[in-house]
Amino acid sequence: MSYSSQLVCTFVAKNKLDYKILINFFSKIQNTTHYKILSNRALDLYCEDFSKKNKDQLRKFCFKNKIDVCIQKAKWRRKKIFLADMDATMIKDETLDNLVKIAGIKGNIDRLSKLAMDGKISLRDTLKFRVSYLKDKSTKLIKQVIKKIRFNEGSKVLVKTLNKNGYHTSLVTGGFQPISTYVGKVLGFKKVISNRFVIKNNKFTGEYIPITGKQNSKLAYLNEICKKKKLNKVKYALSVGDGANDLGMLQNSGLGVGYHSHRIIKKAIDNHIQFTDLRTILFYLGFTEKEFAK
Ligand SMILES: [Mg+2]
Repeated sequence: MSYSSQLVCTFVAKNKLDYKILINFFSKIQNTTHYKILSNRALDLYCEDFSKKNKDQLRKFCFKNKIDVCIQKAKWRRKKIFLADMDATMIKDETLDNLVKIAGIKGNIDRLSKLAMDGKISLRDTLKFRVSYLKDKSTKLIKQVIKKIRFNEGSKVLVKTLNKNGYHTSLVTGGFQPISTYVGKVLGFKKVISNRFVIKNNKFTGEYIPITGKQNSKLAYLNEICKKKKLNKVKYALSVGDGANDLGMLQNSGLGVGYHSHRIIKKAIDNHIQFTDLRTILFYLGFTEKEFAK
Protein backbone atom coordinates (compact mmCIF):
# COMPACT_ATOMS: atom_id res chain seq x y z
CA MET A 1 0.00 0.00 0.00
CA SER A 2 1.40 3.39 -0.93
CA TYR A 3 0.80 5.85 1.88
CA SER A 4 0.74 8.90 -0.39
CA SER A 5 -2.29 7.72 -2.34
CA GLN A 6 -4.22 6.69 0.73
CA LEU A 7 -7.59 8.31 1.27
CA VAL A 8 -9.55 8.85 4.41
CA CYS A 9 -13.34 9.01 4.14
CA THR A 10 -15.08 10.57 7.14
CA PHE A 11 -18.77 10.03 7.79
CA VAL A 12 -20.76 12.12 10.25
CA ALA A 13 -24.42 11.80 11.22
CA LYS A 14 -26.52 14.21 13.28
CA ASN A 15 -27.31 11.66 15.96
CA LYS A 16 -26.12 8.08 15.85
CA LEU A 17 -24.25 6.76 12.83
CA ASP A 18 -25.42 3.39 11.53
CA TYR A 19 -21.96 1.87 10.90
CA LYS A 20 -23.39 -1.38 9.63
CA ILE A 21 -25.26 -0.09 6.58
CA LEU A 22 -22.42 2.31 5.84
CA ILE A 23 -19.66 -0.31 5.91
CA ASN A 24 -21.88 -2.70 3.99
CA PHE A 25 -22.32 -0.15 1.19
CA PHE A 26 -18.67 0.95 1.29
CA SER A 27 -17.40 -2.63 0.88
CA LYS A 28 -19.08 -2.74 -2.54
CA ILE A 29 -16.96 0.22 -3.62
CA GLN A 30 -13.54 -0.26 -2.08
CA ASN A 31 -11.62 -2.40 0.42
CA THR A 32 -10.81 -0.54 3.58
CA THR A 33 -7.33 -0.82 5.05
CA HIS A 34 -8.43 0.27 8.51
CA TYR A 35 -11.03 2.36 10.31
CA LYS A 36 -11.30 4.59 13.36
CA ILE A 37 -14.36 5.44 15.41
CA LEU A 38 -14.30 9.17 16.19
CA SER A 39 -17.59 9.24 18.10
CA ASN A 40 -20.87 7.33 18.12
CA ARG A 41 -21.86 9.56 15.20
CA ALA A 42 -18.58 9.79 13.27
CA LEU A 43 -16.33 7.26 11.56
CA ASP A 44 -13.13 7.28 9.49
CA LEU A 45 -12.54 4.65 6.80
CA TYR A 46 -9.07 4.49 5.23
CA CYS A 47 -8.61 3.05 1.75
CA GLU A 48 -6.68 3.27 -1.50
CA ASP A 49 -7.88 5.87 -4.03
CA PHE A 50 -10.96 4.93 -6.08
CA SER A 51 -12.78 6.17 -9.19
CA LYS A 52 -14.78 9.39 -9.45
CA LYS A 53 -17.82 7.36 -10.44
CA ASN A 54 -17.65 5.39 -7.21
CA LYS A 55 -17.03 8.53 -5.18
CA ASP A 56 -20.18 10.04 -6.68
CA GLN A 57 -22.08 6.88 -5.80
CA LEU A 58 -20.82 7.01 -2.24
CA ARG A 59 -21.80 10.69 -1.93
CA LYS A 60 -25.29 9.89 -3.26
CA PHE A 61 -25.70 7.10 -0.73
CA CYS A 62 -24.63 9.42 2.08
CA PHE A 63 -26.98 12.18 0.92
CA LYS A 64 -29.88 9.75 0.89
CA ASN A 65 -29.05 8.67 4.42
CA LYS A 66 -28.41 12.21 5.68
CA ILE A 67 -24.76 11.52 6.41
CA ASP A 68 -22.13 14.21 5.82
CA VAL A 69 -19.05 12.88 4.08
CA CYS A 70 -15.54 14.14 3.41
CA ILE A 71 -13.12 12.33 1.10
CA GLN A 72 -9.52 13.53 1.26
CA LYS A 73 -5.90 12.42 1.15
CA ALA A 74 -4.90 11.00 4.51
CA LYS A 75 -1.39 12.43 4.35
CA TRP A 76 -2.18 16.15 4.63
CA ARG A 77 -5.25 15.86 6.75
CA ARG A 78 -4.27 18.01 9.73
CA LYS A 79 -4.09 21.69 8.86
CA LYS A 80 -2.51 24.78 10.41
CA ILE A 81 -4.50 27.71 9.04
CA PHE A 82 -8.27 28.15 9.37
CA LEU A 83 -10.31 30.74 7.48
CA ALA A 84 -14.03 31.07 8.14
CA ASP A 85 -16.80 33.08 6.56
CA MET A 86 -19.09 34.86 9.04
CA ASP A 87 -22.64 35.46 7.74
CA ALA A 88 -24.67 32.26 7.32
CA THR A 89 -21.58 30.23 8.28
CA MET A 90 -20.30 31.01 11.80
CA ILE A 91 -23.55 32.83 12.56
CA LYS A 92 -27.08 32.29 11.25
CA ASP A 93 -27.59 35.91 10.21
CA GLU A 94 -26.82 38.07 7.18
CA THR A 95 -25.78 41.03 9.31
CA LEU A 96 -25.68 43.79 6.69
CA ASP A 97 -29.20 42.87 5.57
CA ASN A 98 -30.36 42.94 9.18
CA LEU A 99 -28.78 46.36 9.64
CA VAL A 100 -30.51 47.74 6.56
CA LYS A 101 -33.82 46.28 7.72
CA ILE A 102 -33.46 47.66 11.27
CA ALA A 103 -32.77 51.06 9.67
CA GLY A 104 -36.33 50.78 8.34
CA ILE A 105 -35.41 50.46 4.72
CA LYS A 106 -37.95 48.59 2.67
CA GLY A 107 -36.90 46.87 -0.50
CA ASN A 108 -35.89 43.46 -1.59
CA ILE A 109 -32.72 43.18 0.47
CA ASP A 110 -32.89 39.41 1.04
CA ARG A 111 -33.29 38.76 -2.66
CA LEU A 112 -30.28 40.93 -3.54
CA SER A 113 -28.18 39.13 -0.99
CA LYS A 114 -29.27 35.70 -2.20
CA LEU A 115 -28.50 36.56 -5.83
CA ALA A 116 -25.02 37.75 -4.82
CA MET A 117 -24.36 34.60 -2.74
CA ASP A 118 -25.45 32.48 -5.70
CA GLY A 119 -22.93 34.34 -7.86
CA LYS A 120 -25.61 35.76 -10.13
CA ILE A 121 -24.75 39.40 -9.46
CA SER A 122 -21.55 41.02 -8.25
CA LEU A 123 -21.26 41.03 -4.48
CA ARG A 124 -19.28 44.24 -4.58
CA ASP A 125 -22.07 46.03 -6.47
CA THR A 126 -24.78 44.84 -4.09
CA LEU A 127 -22.63 45.72 -1.06
CA LYS A 128 -22.26 49.23 -2.39
CA PHE A 129 -25.97 49.40 -3.00
CA ARG A 130 -26.93 48.03 0.42
CA VAL A 131 -24.47 50.28 2.28
CA SER A 132 -25.73 53.33 0.38
CA TYR A 133 -29.17 52.71 1.90
CA LEU A 134 -27.68 53.51 5.31
CA LYS A 135 -26.68 57.08 4.45
CA ASP A 136 -27.40 59.51 7.34
CA LYS A 137 -28.70 56.75 9.62
CA SER A 138 -27.33 56.57 13.19
CA THR A 139 -24.53 54.08 13.88
CA LYS A 140 -26.40 53.18 17.10
CA LEU A 141 -28.30 50.70 14.92
CA ILE A 142 -25.20 48.49 14.89
CA LYS A 143 -25.78 47.65 18.58
CA GLN A 144 -29.24 46.32 17.77
CA VAL A 145 -27.85 44.02 15.07
CA ILE A 146 -25.17 42.71 17.45
CA LYS A 147 -27.80 41.97 20.12
CA LYS A 148 -29.73 39.77 17.71
CA ILE A 149 -26.80 37.67 16.44
CA ARG A 150 -27.42 33.92 16.61
CA PHE A 151 -24.29 31.73 16.55
CA ASN A 152 -24.42 28.53 14.56
CA GLU A 153 -24.22 25.27 16.45
CA GLY A 154 -20.69 24.09 17.03
CA SER A 155 -19.04 27.41 16.15
CA LYS A 156 -17.54 28.00 19.59
CA VAL A 157 -16.25 24.44 20.05
CA LEU A 158 -14.76 24.49 16.57
CA VAL A 159 -12.71 27.66 17.01
CA LYS A 160 -11.73 26.80 20.59
CA THR A 161 -10.48 23.33 19.62
CA LEU A 162 -8.52 24.67 16.66
CA ASN A 163 -6.93 27.43 18.75
CA LYS A 164 -5.99 24.89 21.41
CA ASN A 165 -4.31 22.78 18.75
CA GLY A 166 -2.19 25.61 17.41
CA TYR A 167 -4.21 26.58 14.34
CA HIS A 168 -4.07 30.18 13.17
CA THR A 169 -7.78 31.12 13.04
CA SER A 170 -9.17 34.01 10.95
CA LEU A 171 -12.69 35.27 10.44
CA VAL A 172 -12.78 36.56 6.85
CA THR A 173 -15.99 38.30 5.95
CA GLY A 174 -17.68 40.59 3.49
CA GLY A 175 -19.50 41.85 6.60
CA PHE A 176 -18.53 44.92 8.57
CA GLN A 177 -16.71 46.12 11.68
CA PRO A 178 -17.65 46.33 14.52
CA ILE A 179 -20.13 43.47 13.96
CA SER A 180 -17.34 41.23 12.68
CA THR A 181 -14.97 42.13 15.52
CA TYR A 182 -17.72 41.30 18.03
CA VAL A 183 -18.31 37.86 16.44
CA GLY A 184 -14.56 37.28 16.20
CA LYS A 185 -14.08 38.09 19.87
CA VAL A 186 -16.94 35.91 21.13
CA LEU A 187 -15.72 32.94 19.08
CA GLY A 188 -12.03 33.52 19.84
CA PHE A 189 -10.68 34.09 16.32
CA LYS A 190 -7.07 35.29 16.34
CA LYS A 191 -7.70 37.64 13.44
CA VAL A 192 -10.71 39.37 11.85
CA ILE A 193 -10.63 40.58 8.25
CA SER A 194 -13.67 42.62 7.22
CA ASN A 195 -15.03 45.71 5.52
CA ARG A 196 -15.43 49.05 7.29
CA PHE A 197 -18.21 51.60 7.11
CA VAL A 198 -17.24 55.21 6.55
CA ILE A 199 -18.72 57.03 9.54
CA LYS A 200 -19.00 60.77 10.22
CA ASN A 201 -20.51 62.31 13.38
CA ASN A 202 -21.94 58.93 14.45
CA LYS A 203 -23.77 58.55 11.16
CA PHE A 204 -23.18 56.31 8.16
CA THR A 205 -22.01 58.21 5.09
CA GLY A 206 -23.35 55.46 2.82
CA GLU A 207 -19.83 54.49 1.77
CA TYR A 208 -17.45 51.77 2.88
CA ILE A 209 -13.80 50.73 2.82
CA PRO A 210 -13.40 47.27 1.24
CA ILE A 211 -11.10 44.61 2.79
CA THR A 212 -8.71 44.69 -0.12
CA GLY A 213 -8.78 46.28 -3.52
CA LYS A 214 -8.77 42.92 -5.26
CA GLN A 215 -11.84 41.23 -6.66
CA ASN A 216 -11.46 37.96 -4.80
CA SER A 217 -10.51 39.38 -1.43
CA LYS A 218 -10.90 36.19 0.61
CA LEU A 219 -8.58 34.28 -1.70
CA ALA A 220 -6.15 37.21 -1.58
CA TYR A 221 -6.12 36.96 2.23
CA LEU A 222 -5.60 33.18 2.07
CA ASN A 223 -2.55 33.73 -0.14
CA GLU A 224 -1.27 36.50 2.10
CA ILE A 225 -1.57 34.61 5.40
CA CYS A 226 -0.04 31.41 3.95
CA LYS A 227 2.87 33.42 2.57
CA LYS A 228 3.37 35.17 5.89
CA LYS A 229 3.33 31.87 7.83
CA LYS A 230 5.44 30.17 5.13
CA LEU A 231 2.84 27.42 4.75
CA ASN A 232 1.69 25.72 1.57
CA LYS A 233 -2.06 26.41 1.28
CA VAL A 234 -2.76 23.12 -0.50
CA LYS A 235 -1.31 21.21 2.42
CA TYR A 236 -2.10 23.38 5.41
CA ALA A 237 -5.14 25.58 4.79
CA LEU A 238 -8.69 24.78 5.87
CA SER A 239 -11.65 27.02 5.08
CA VAL A 240 -15.42 27.06 5.39
CA GLY A 241 -18.10 29.17 3.75
CA ASP A 242 -21.49 29.19 2.06
CA GLY A 243 -21.57 31.84 -0.70
CA ALA A 244 -20.12 32.82 -4.06
CA ASN A 245 -17.51 35.13 -2.51
CA ASP A 246 -16.10 32.14 -0.60
CA LEU A 247 -15.52 30.08 -3.73
CA GLY A 248 -11.90 31.10 -4.47
CA MET A 249 -10.91 30.59 -0.84
CA LEU A 250 -12.60 27.17 -0.67
CA GLN A 251 -11.18 25.94 -3.98
CA ASN A 252 -7.63 26.96 -3.08
CA SER A 253 -7.52 25.54 0.43
CA GLY A 254 -6.23 22.03 1.11
CA LEU A 255 -9.65 21.38 2.58
CA GLY A 256 -12.50 23.74 1.64
CA VAL A 257 -15.82 22.87 3.26
CA GLY A 258 -19.19 24.16 2.06
CA TYR A 259 -21.52 24.87 4.97
CA HIS A 260 -25.24 24.56 4.12
CA SER A 261 -24.12 26.38 1.02
CA HIS A 262 -25.63 28.08 -2.03
CA ARG A 263 -25.89 26.15 -5.28
CA ILE A 264 -22.74 27.64 -6.82
CA ILE A 265 -20.66 26.19 -3.94
CA LYS A 266 -22.50 22.84 -3.95
CA LYS A 267 -21.59 22.42 -7.62
CA ALA A 268 -17.93 23.43 -7.35
CA ILE A 269 -16.83 21.95 -4.01
CA ASP A 270 -16.68 18.25 -3.04
CA ASN A 271 -16.81 18.29 0.73
CA HIS A 272 -19.75 19.75 2.60
CA ILE A 273 -21.72 20.00 5.79
CA GLN A 274 -25.37 19.57 4.85
CA PHE A 275 -26.98 17.68 7.71
CA THR A 276 -24.86 18.34 10.78
CA ASP A 277 -23.19 21.31 12.49
CA LEU A 278 -19.81 23.04 12.47
CA ARG A 279 -18.20 20.48 14.81
CA THR A 280 -18.19 18.14 11.81
CA ILE A 281 -15.13 20.02 10.56
CA LEU A 282 -13.25 18.68 13.59
CA PHE A 283 -14.16 15.13 12.60
CA TYR A 284 -13.02 15.86 9.02
CA LEU A 285 -9.65 16.87 10.51
CA GLY A 286 -9.47 13.60 12.44
CA PHE A 287 -10.28 14.79 15.95
CA THR A 288 -12.25 12.37 18.13
CA GLU A 289 -15.19 13.83 20.05
CA LYS A 290 -13.21 13.41 23.30
CA GLU A 291 -10.60 15.80 21.94
CA PHE A 292 -13.09 18.62 21.39
CA ALA A 293 -12.46 21.63 23.63
CA LYS A 294 -15.12 22.13 26.29
MG1 LIG B 1 -21.75 33.74 4.06
